Amino acid sequence: MTLILFCVLAAIASAWNPTNGSINGYYNLTEVNNLLEEWTKIHNGTETFTIGKSLRGKEIKAFRLNLGKGPAVLVIGCHHARELISTTQVLSILNYILQEESEEIDYIRKNREIIFIPVLNVDGLQKISEHYDKTHTIIDIRKNQRPTETCPGDDHGVDLNRNYEYMWGFDNEGSSNNSCGEDYRGSSPFSEPETKAIRDLLLNKSFSVAVSYHSWGDLYVHPWCYRNSFNPSDLRPEDWSLYNSVKTILPSTAQMGNPNQLLNYAVNGCFIDFAYSLGIFSMAVELGPENDFHPPIGKVKGILENHLAPFMYLLKHSGPVMNLWLQNLTIHGSVVEFYLEIYNQGMQDATNQTLTFELSHEYSIHHFFPYNTFAHNKNGRLTNIHLPAISKRSKQAIMFKISLDESADEFLYSFYFQPHSPLNAQLSNTIQYKIVRGSTAVLLWIVILIIALIGVAVVVVFRFTKKRITPIKFVELDKFNKANSQGTPTI
Ligand SMILES: [Zn+2]
Repeated sequence: MTLILFCVLAAIASAWNPTNGSINGYYNLTEVNNLLEEWTKIHNGTETFTIGKSLRGKEIKAFRLNLGKGPAVLVIGCHHARELISTTQVLSILNYILQEESEEIDYIRKNREIIFIPVLNVDGLQKISEHYDKTHTIIDIRKNQRPTETCPGDDHGVDLNRNYEYMWGFDNEGSSNNSCGEDYRGSSPFSEPETKAIRDLLLNKSFSVAVSYHSWGDLYVHPWCYRNSFNPSDLRPEDWSLYNSVKTILPSTAQMGNPNQLLNYAVNGCFIDFAYSLGIFSMAVELGPENDFHPPIGKVKGILENHLAPFMYLLKHSGPVMNLWLQNLTIHGSVVEFYLEIYNQGMQDATNQTLTFELSHEYSIHHFFPYNTFAHNKNGRLTNIHLPAISKRSKQAIMFKISLDESADEFLYSFYFQPHSPLNAQLSNTIQYKIVRGSTAVLLWIVILIIALIGVAVVVVFRFTKKRITPIKFVELDKFNKANSQGTPTI
């Protein structure tokens, strides 16, 4: 019976439709929370938990994959209530990770701790769904539901994405001190229970990557939000390097930058600046390209798919990701030299990595550099090198100098990391080469010896017979040269 129930639930989950919610296709708070509970029942190693309560006492739910296993990644939707597609995006990513069948996703499922918070502004979304049930219109609410003074259009509340501590209230351009302003920052940093819940989550766990979804604009926003300018040196070099990598895989319509670059204004007290100040690689994604907080539901699936790849790239790179290049390979006789460049492209240091070097033929090692002093063991055609820690987003090079045996015209080499991960590169290739074999070498030495003997014989003959040789040819040649140099025609 339990098995049947499990199968039915699994079938429901795999067939989940991201645009089947009751707010004109978007999911309301109850539906989101039910979905999280359902998926928790189906998938081992997951849990739904509460990170805190909203101003009105509603639970802010989170879904966790893999407690304590691997680098931690945080995904948040719905800082701003009306940005309904941001919740759909978080749910859609979660569903994809739970369902997708590939070696790489399976590895990520088992080796990343991911916390999904589809709805942070629970009171705001609740207000929208209650209003929608009565009127079938989506009310325009951005902030939380803190009752402030009476505002035109009932626009009370605090902008949660201006309420974080880092550079809170830096100026009145990046946030408002007017409680009716749509970017009102609140009375003090973390004055709101919703942002406090995020603060406590971030302070109690070391996250590698954090992404917050918004709409609209088709923008990938990186720190610093509060600054009125941008210079790459404002960011940690390893982060700047990863932002640039992400930039290469954005949807063709999307742009990347800080708010000043993208929007021509600064934002202070925002989530990504707070996360970045704690050492977390952070981004805010404004989903687009539709210029709509909640685009027509028929366009939503396309938008979700467009923005999946950059997130998966970040998820993959939240831990160590090893890449390999072989460079400057030269073969002299049977001696092969080359450099192997190892690049940790991920956002965590790579520790306890063993690099295995395997050849199709017997070989002997002259040296590795600079790893001579690091432990390695060789067994026939296979060498294990225990690498020292390679820092996040940094490279190391190893020089190899080895001697091949002389039994073949080609060899197959391969490099791979252990423990094996589908995220790490492997390198293998077949190299053809010609070496001077033993028999050929002997023949060559005999030829050289004969030439040398002939040379010696000529010298000896010349020496004993030089008195009888008239150097007439040299004289004539000298004349010829002089004549030539004077420009006189000669025959
Ligand atoms: Zn927003």
